Amino acid sequence: MKLSTGFWQTYKEVPADAEIASHQLMIRTGLIHKAGSGLYNYLPMGLRSIRKVENIIREELDKIGCFEITMSVVTPGELWQETGRWDKMGGLMLRFKDKKDADLCISPTNEEAVTDIFRKTIKSYKQLPVTLYQINTKFRDEIRPRFGLMRGREFTMKDAYSFHLDKASLDVGYQALYDAYTAIFTRLGLEFIPVEADGGAMASSDSKTHEFQVVANSGEDLIIYSAEAKYAANIEKAQTKRAPTTYDMNVVPMKEVETVKTETIEAVCALLGQTAAQSLKSMVYTATTGNESKMILAMMIGDDSVNEIKLQNFLKCDHLAASSEDELKKAKLWKGYIGPFGLEGQLEIIFDNAVNLDASYTIGANKKDAHVMGFNPKRDMKKIIQADLRLSKAGDLTLDGKHTVVEKRGIEVGHVFQLGDKYTKDMKVGVLDQNGKLVTPLMGCYGIGVTRVVAAAIEQNHDANGIIWPKSIAPYDVYFATIVKAEEFAKIADEIYADMKKAGIDVVYDDRNVGPGNKFKDADLLGLPYRVVLGERDFGASGELEIIERKTGTVTKVKRDELISTLK
Ligand code: ATP
Ligand code: MG
Ligand code: MG
Ligand code: MG
Repeated sequence: MKLSTGFWQTYKEVPADAEIASHQLMIRTGLIHKAGSGLYNYLPMGLRSIRKVENIIREELDKIGCFEITMSVVTPGELWQETGRWDKMGGLMLRFKDKKDADLCISPTNEEAVTDIFRKTIKSYKQLPVTLYQINTKFRDEIRPRFGLMRGREFTMKDAYSFHLDKASLDVGYQALYDAYTAIFTRLGLEFIPVEADGGAMASSDSKTHEFQVVANSGEDLIIYSAEAKYAANIEKAQTKRAPTTYDMNVVPMKEVETVKTETIEAVCALLGQTAAQSLKSMVYTATTGNESKMILAMMIGDDSVNEIKLQNFLKCDHLAASSEDELKKAKLWKGYIGPFGLEGQLEIIFDNAVNLDASYTIGANKKDAHVMGFNPKRDMKKIIQADLRLSKAGDLTLDGKHTVVEKRGIEVGHVFQLGDKYTKDMKVGVLDQNGKLVTPLMGCYGIGVTRVVAAAIEQNHDANGIIWPKSIAPYDVYFATIVKAEEFAKIADEIYADMKKAGIDVVYDDRNVGPGNKFKDADLLGLPYRVVLGERDFGASGELEIIERKTGTVTKVKRDELISTLK
């Protein structure tokens, strides 16, 4: 791209809603524009990077024999009715009606749609296994869209779905996708950890699921990691590794306690080094593993969006079965209050009447501590912090033997999941096996947040001056900046630009009529792997150009005819 006639603009100002580096940098470097809450326009620079991510994914999936398709972004409600998810998806799913009054939604995921394709196409075991994938737009009406492309409402996902005759084949297919993910994230230049993930309440005990987490302080997930024990898990899953506790608990109704102002919440979160939303998870985590603590065992920050804890789920827990529903109803959390409680069970938290399917936690408590008490943020918060520190030393995870466990924050960029027969059963799919018997095939599903990957890459690779792109997904390879006045040198620069393009180097040619300071600032901000500078004075005297590597700052001087071979 020749900047004098190109379409690219950098910005000095950081938008107020951009809390983390990747979001700020993506806006400042003109990769994306905000269209609305959780909605972004991808501009030429940003789109190039997204396309590179897509192509790497495509190459690795095609290599293992997956087939690319594109499913309609709008899907009929009927399909979702078949699996019961029309009701279960809650407010996450954006629904509407067409002029004939038929229910439609914008796909938040595509299990139903792909299973429908499968059942209309595949009839025999001879056609199995098969994996279909697409790279397409998703819409999820997220409770808290934030961090730019990291948690958008509209985003690009690669979603793949595999179909198998039996569990052995599913295991093989799952491993192939897992390995492809490892290859993909390695090629993307990311530091990542595959972790055991929580399959949720519906998952059968032998179904595997892993998340690929990019390690970053701003990550919304908490992962537990032990190199010694060769163990890594999302905290949501790690909790289920604890020995089950089956004591009965004395459930005391929750009291309305002090109203906590937003400032207090923010201050507490700052103390914990987390943002308000993240604190929700970690508070619960604190409670779960702080088993010796005499203090409040679990508490929830009265985040604006938390309305109530869905109560029927408490009733599903064995040790709470004796508690009356009435009593549990009192354990309600109102907007704007901090409510401490000690309960164990799977929780679903309702945010503004939309079920957040991900917010499912186990909250543990000792028998004698399982009570609810008034809460004074100033006094009690100190204790929480202590508890946090204590558990970050090891917690009480049951890993085989005692091992050092570290906590890291992670960004979930990919997820692989053995679905089993959930969708094929609900949608009445049958294939004929070797004996001519109709059997229900098994499924796996595999997602990658394509646009989230770009944000995660920047989150992991930047400095005070801007982005430091991994080579594989940089929008361009080279930023070619010229400091020339004389026509003669401008002509040489034009020729060098043409030569680089001809040699297959993706190059941004900064031929704008602005000072070198501006050019270098923009070059650093955009952070392409190499900056090449043609300065009229130096080039005139020595015939040399300068190559500066963005990552290391290493400067190499080369003659014009060495430029391309050095860059390649
Ligand atoms: P999260 O826990 O971050 O909400 P998820 O578990 O709901 O993600 P999946 O259903 O596993 O997401 O979808 C597959 C992938 O899509 C995720 O691993 C993630 O990379 C990406 N993704 C999910 N939600 C978003 C979003 N709101 N914005 C951008 N990418 C997303
Ligand atoms: Mg998740
Ligand atoms: Mg989610
Ligand atoms: Mg997931």
